[in-house]
Amino acid sequence: MNIILLGPPGAGKGTQAERLARRLGIVQLSTGDMLRAAVKAGTPIGLKAKSIMEAGALVSDEVMIGLIAERIGQPDCKNGFILDGFPRTTAQAEALDRMLAERGLKLDRVVELHVDDEKLTARIVGRFACAKCGAGYNDATKPTRVSGVCDVCGSKEFVRRKDDNRETVVERLKAYHAQTAPITPYYRGLGRFASIDGMADIDVVEAALVKAVGAAANG
Ligand code: AMP
Repeated sequence: MNIILLGPPGAGKGTQAERLARRLGIVQLSTGDMLRAAVKAGTPIGLKAKSIMEAGALVSDEVMIGLIAERIGQPDCKNGFILDGFPRTTAQAEALDRMLAERGLKLDRVVELHVDDEKLTARIVGRFACAKCGAGYNDATKPTRVSGVCDVCGSKEFVRRKDDNRETVVERLKAYHAQTAPITPYYRGLGRFASIDGMADIDVVEAALVKAVGAAANG
């Protein structure tokens, strides 16, 4: 099953993609995670992407299309994948169509997480994660049960994304509205499209997503 999750930064795509991938036994392909790994490893793509990501802008289509084209050809994608953070521009959407057609693959479902713009900033700037096990938290909506201690592994070290600050969020939302939001009508027009409320509780969003995807699985 091949799925795209659409939605602005902070909509919960990463959290939901991870849960859905586990549930369906398919792979989560997060281009943001891939780029952050490349930055950390200091690869040529990482070196190019670092300042662009810190400014809240989009990395070039050429780089992103190359990354995804290489990734979906790997053996672990053969049962399917959830794209989280790709495509983000019309050129990426068109390239994805070509890649899928070349490989005889199709899109089973495109799901948009619909969210209230004003609430996004608070959500994004509150995000943090355990440095050891990666468990995700939020100052406002999901703090650790014991202050400063990870609920899952007990670690006392946490990390925040460098681009999860107010100034960068403004730019990321601008990029979303200018470059990414315009691809939604394209997918809506193709069918197999669902829009769900991303502002609800995480488990409620997950249930809606499972339903949206299940409906596709049943034809
Ligand atoms: P994300 O984790 O999806 O919020 O992505 C973090 C940052 O990585 C974005 O603000 C962009 O700078 C970059 N990025 C991730 N995916 C893409 C993409 N498909 N096209 C261009 N830039 C991307």
